[in-house]
Order: sequence, then structure tokens, then C-alpha cells
Amino acid sequence: MTVLEAIRLGDVFVPALVYRLTSIPRDDNDAALASLAPHPHFRGMDARELVTKLRESTAVRAAGAVVSEPGWEHHLSITARAWTYDPGCPALSGRECSIHARRPHTCRTVPVRYDVPEGLLVRAFRGTVDAGRAARDPFECDVSDAAPVLLRDGAIADREYEGARAAGIEAALAERELAARIFRHPLLPSIERVYPELRKNRLVSVSFHGALAAAHEHGLVDDAGVKTFCAAQLALLDRQIEAALARRRREDRDVTARFRTLRAAYVSMLARLGAL
Ligand code: SF4
Repeated sequence: MTVLEAIRLGDVFVPALVYRLTSIPRDDNDAALASLAPHPHFRGMDARELVTKLRESTAVRAAGAVVSEPGWEHHLSITARAWTYDPGCPALSGRECSIHARRPHTCRTVPVRYDVPEGLLVRAFRGTVDAGRAARDPFECDVSDAAPVLLRDGAIADREYEGARAAGIEAALAERELAARIFRHPLLPSIERVYPELRKNRLVSVSFHGALAAAHEHGLVDDAGVKTFCAAQLALLDRQIEAALARRRREDRDVTARFRTLRAAYVSMLARLGAL
């Protein structure tokens, strides 16, 4: 999800803000190009071709900061994800999406996600099918010969998917300036603080309230939007914390503590807006 999508879906998900690092060797860094360890879907590709394609990804084009090191450029981008006690999407009801008409761009473009550059779509799709992820409960892609054609000659052949991908890319690129603000926002950990963990894990999740504050200050969300989001989050957080306390599972404690801290942050934002 993009940050603004997460805010729009504040009645469905408790979002976490995700910092993401995409490291790309410079063209003259032959040693790094030779030692690239790409995602299994892209193994066997020419390293220079892969790097050229990665530069076209939304993660790189929408990056809000770039850290340069000798021979490398590290692109920092943001997304949001649902923060839950258990794996799985909270919007899934049985085998159906309970928010189908409002589902995020990512869901609209599965299995040809908008953050995969066009030149890598066939490999990404093939890799997903080969890894068995297209046929796992509760979702199952139709990969039979009778299925509609999604990709032809490496490009999207389905107009609906094509439109959904274009909308997802546009939404991600529109948040580039917001990403730059988020990386400097006082309510969020600085790049310097999270960078060592990002170099290790590529993704770091942090509390979302600073992203909301940055979007508000940047004029992307008005006072009414902040109030609606915070009120919806308080209701969701209270429900989830209450359910966790009733379950009495030791492994829930860390998330409950973090949810309580997040709850306090949203209460304080509402108070500052005179909504309490
Ligand atoms: S499409 Fe699936 S992953 Fe996306 S919101 Fe719906 S249930 Fe969740």
C-alpha cells in the first residue's frame, strides 16, 4: 500500500510504515555487478540488464532519499503494510476480499504487481507460478491454457490490469516528495538510525503516526481526514488489543505494547486538533 492508501483504509488496517532499501551498483562497479545476488525470479539474467530494469522500478523512481557509497547507490523508498497479530490480510473474509471495491493498488495488480518494472514481468510471473504461490489457499490463479492472456511478448495484454498498474505506479510516484519529508520528520527515526538495519534486512517497519503527521503537514490530508483516520484507528486498536488480552498468548505481548504506544500517539494527535 502507499501511505495515502493506508490513510484511506484506516477503518480496515492498522498500518505500519515500511522503509525499503534498493541497492544498485554503479555501471563502473564491475565487482559488484558480478557479485549481485538477485531475487530467485531473476537469477540467470545479465547483471547490467537487471540493474537497468531495477532503475525503472517504482521503488527507485519514487525514492525519497539516496545514500551514495563508493560504487553504489542505495535508494530509500516508503510503503505501508497492515500490522497484525497473526499473518494474513485482515480484510480477508473466508475466501473473499471484504473490501474488494476499495482494495489497494498492489492487490489490483497481482500477479503482475505495479512495483515490478515492465521488463521483469514475465520472469516475476513465471517465478511466482513456479514457486507454487499461484495455487495456495485461499487464493488460486488460473494458469490453465483456458485462462485469459495477461502478458503477451512481455507486456500487459489485459486492459484492466494495464490500467490498474498505471494507477499504482502513478500513486507511488506521487508520494516521492512525501517520502523525502517522512525521512526528515522529527516523529520518525532518522535515516542514520535505521540505515544499519536496512542494510541488513532491506525493509524496516516503524510506527505510522509520523507518516500521518508528515502527510498532514504537507497538505495531503486535511484536519477532517486526520480526525477520521485517528478515530477509526482507535476503534480498530481497541478491538484488537481487547481480543489479544482475551486470547492471553505470550507472543502477543510485544504487538500489544506497540499498539498501546501507537494508540497514545493517535490520541495525542486528536487532542492537538481539538477533537477530544
Ligand atoms: S485483495 Fe486480498 S490481500 Fe488485498 S485487501 Fe483484499 S483480502 Fe487483503
